[in-house]
Amino acid sequence: MSLFISRLANDGAALSDVFSITRCDANLGQNPVNSQVDRIAYTKTSSGAGQDRIEALVGAAGDVVVSAFPAGSQIPDGSGGTVPIELVGGATFPPDSAGLIQVAYCFNNQMFAFAPGGAQISLPRQVILFHELAHAFHRAIGDFNSADPEFQAITDENTFRAQVGLAARDPTNHNGGQGAGNGQQVPSCTGMPPGGGTGGTGPSCCNC
Ligand SMILES: [Zn+2]
Repeated sequence: MSLFISRLANDGAALSDVFSITRCDANLGQNPVNSQVDRIAYTKTSSGAGQDRIEALVGAAGDVVVSAFPAGSQIPDGSGGTVPIELVGGATFPPDSAGLIQVAYCFNNQMFAFAPGGAQISLPRQVILFHELAHAFHRAIGDFNSADPEFQAITDENTFRAQVGLAARDPTNHNGGQGAGNGQQVPSCTGMPPGGGTGGTGPSCCNC
């Protein structure tokens, strides 16, 4: 019943991106659980698609673990093989035998997606994570659209894109790839780091 960050992957990158998704909300907290994961604590102090979604994930019925990987990392491709994470941007896996929903995403690759009409637009790392967290959220609360999961996730992704001033993505076009988009980035934000957040005991994180 919570949102976790994997310490087996790049926990600093993941925390930085979650912090950015909350628009550097000072109430984000980080609590070490064990050598594998930190738990995210969060009660939002402002509203927005990013803050709302992270708070909902922290309170959702399912457990979600985020792993941030650099380009070159191999992740399961869902068909018994593996795929370099920079080719897909991210992936969210169905609940495992312990009920854990695993999210993996690439934090250091330049990627693009498509706007309605076909223009190439930026797909920043925070947006990739938000997109994967959309899949995870819907799995966690039990309304995952298995018939059209990408339409569901991209529709959610567009709420975050709107919040941070990025061009909307075509929810009927899940294509994309490596390379430049339209030059847009998620605006930077600053605030108290996660260690100082609600109930957080972890170390300071970052400005994003
Ligand atoms: Zn997706």
